[in-house]
Amino acid sequence: MPEEPTEDESTKDEFTEYDVAIVGGGVAGLSAGVYTARHGLETAIFDGGGSILRRNAHLENVPGFPAGVNSRLFLDMLSDQAAQAGCTFRETTVTAVREAGDGFAIVTAAGESHRAAYVVAATKNATDYLEPLPGVELVDRGKTFVEIDDRGRTGKEGVYAAGRIAGKPHQTAVAAGHGTEVAVALLEDDDRPFYHDWVAPEGYFTGRDRDVPPGCEEIDEAERREREDESLEVMAEYFESPHDEKPEQHPSVASED
Ligand SMILES: Cc1cc2nc3c(=O)[nH]c(=O)nc-3n(C[C@H](O)[C@H](O)[C@H](O)COP(=O)(O)OP(=O)(O)OC[C@H]3O[C@@H](n4cnc5c(N)ncnc54)[C@H](O)[C@@H]3O)c2cc1C
Repeated sequence: MPEEPTEDESTKDEFTEYDVAIVGGGVAGLSAGVYTARHGLETAIFDGGGSILRRNAHLENVPGFPAGVNSRLFLDMLSDQAAQAGCTFRETTVTAVREAGDGFAIVTAAGESHRAAYVVAATKNATDYLEPLPGVELVDRGKTFVEIDDRGRTGKEGVYAAGRIAGKPHQTAVAAGHGTEVAVALLEDDDRPFYHDWVAPEGYFTGRDRDVPPGCEEIDEAERREREDESLEVMAEYFESPHDEKPEQHPSVASED
């Protein structure tokens, strides 16, 4: 994993708690958090409910799962991956994002206000909390979406949108990929160096007299085996038994029961 930034490299000022506040801990938000946290940006994920993917009955089209996967398990694994990368989780709805100093204040239903240098909106079709922010354009196409450029930047510098809220197709793999792309755009916009988030075998760069680029890592064969052993053990635990949560029903159907 890339090294932690020194205090001098941090984007935070004395009032700012986080480098990145991700609003929405569903598919896109969790995926974005994996990348920003792995690159050493202090990242908080705010989530007030649960991903719409919890309604899925069996997830069969996400790359890497040839027999499909329980979508609640998939979300648990993605959430654990974001935590492992270093994300902090705040289980509360965000009611407003406002300009504050050089960054933003993230106001929550719990009555708290948190400061962050960057904001990633990943709340599917919930956009009301963005309304205090000048420059963020909302469009109504039956549901509300946020206008972005080709890398997920909104019209307000430092504010990004990822996944369904950014008008992307309503598919898990797309939301995960877009969360990733937006996080990489944020890393590139930040003035610290970033090449790619890659783990390469020992010598891949240094064997060609190149420095290991920022964001990348070279590991030797012993370390590779150790990581593989750990992944086998951890994945076996995840897939040991069926998930204990059933799909959530559409609210209008559920209310007719
Ligand atoms: C019944 C059903 C079945 C599906 N099956 C499939 C499938 O088989 N394959 C597939 O590829 N896709 C499937 N999908 C689509 C998939 O679930 C979505 O495309 C994907 O979840 C979108 O990701 P997202 O991150 O944009 O939104 P979500 O994953 O919904 O994440 C948004 C998050 O934002 C949070 N949030 C919202 N407002 C706030 C706020 N103000 N403050 C804090 N948090 C907030 C929510 O709690 C949620 O956790 C299915 C969807 C449904 C409804």
